[in-house]
Amino acid sequence: MPVITCAVFDARPYDTDALRHASADLGIDWRFLEFRLTAHTAPAARGAQAVCAFVNDQVDRPCLEALAAEGVKLVALRGTGFNNVDVAAARELGISVTRVPVYSPYAVAEHAVALLLTLNRRIHRAFNRVRELNFSLNGLVGFDLHGKTAGILGTGKIGRVTAQILRGFGMTVLAHDPFKDREWAAREGVDYVDASSLLGLSDVLSLHLPLTPETRHLIRAETLELVKAGAILINVSRGALIDTTALIEALKTGRLGGVALDVYEEEEGVFFEDLSDQVLQDDELARLLTFPNVLITAHQAFLTREALADIARATVANLEALADGHPFVEGSVLT
Ligand code: NAD
Repeated sequence: MPVITCAVFDARPYDTDALRHASADLGIDWRFLEFRLTAHTAPAARGAQAVCAFVNDQVDRPCLEALAAEGVKLVALRGTGFNNVDVAAARELGISVTRVPVYSPYAVAEHAVALLLTLNRRIHRAFNRVRELNFSLNGLVGFDLHGKTAGILGTGKIGRVTAQILRGFGMTVLAHDPFKDREWAAREGVDYVDASSLLGLSDVLSLHLPLTPETRHLIRAETLELVKAGAILINVSRGALIDTTALIEALKTGRLGGVALDVYEEEEGVFFEDLSDQVLQDDELARLLTFPNVLITAHQAFLTREALADIARATVANLEALADGHPFVEGSVLT
């Protein structure tokens, strides 16, 4: 007998594999759905006690009302960020919301560094050239990271790992966070500075903070004015931390030397999809893709075996908790 039915929205083969593996003997009745969760698609959860949602599902009030009408008791997010969920509405409707509080921060930090190395050393361009038998090196000049300065905005789990990797390259690492971990900083040789000093001094800027009303468009025209000319900007956190229009302007003027993004302000409905036979409707994304010094991946920083297994384990534990009436995984409860 299944202990619980869970409708998994926006489910991809790697989610399906990891969730099935983590729940091998537990009798969870999975309903894997390839489309995103919205108010419109919520009725697909009919008969399920729980839904499992991802970053681009629109878990807003109308969606939660539709889920409540179907008898759903739990929204289990298979990620850390929850900016796409109306937590207050869920509370009012008596729906619990959980997230995965911790999973391999190395997955995300290592992807940020992979983007930095690729962009700086033009690996993406070199790869294409060599396949075309173009062995010229013109235009592929990068710079030594050793001895340069990196600025880490947000020294939570992922920011700290990124800082440590960059220290390993021999970079000076500056950090900014309203909640400082001074013991960690002293141990790792990282210096906390104010945000504008960090922007002005860093050759490489990496964003590792959550998207909230306060951090939305943290990188915009005024803050880009403060950035060291020619700096590289890396964003593996949330797209809306950056004002895309201002970003394009800063690339056109050369204020920024390069940009690597794993997230994009308007990624919903684009990232995770194969649109290769369609006309791209997003003009700003199309413009970004024309710059030789812009590198974009489609929200894949979490995509390691270890991170997927961590995510699946925590999600399954919360489904079991719902079925058995036990407390949810520590630190995972949003309401
Ligand atoms: P975390 O909660 O451990 O750390 C976030 C840090 O940001 C905290 O220390 C917080 O104090 C700090 N912060 C908040 N506001 C700030 C501000 N205005 N300036 C500077 N610092 C500020 O989170 P984490 O696990 O390190 O994750 C960071 C972000 O990475 C998440 O919010 C999520 O959006 C993103 N993420 C992306 C992927 C991906 O696949 N691309 C995967 C996981 C997480």
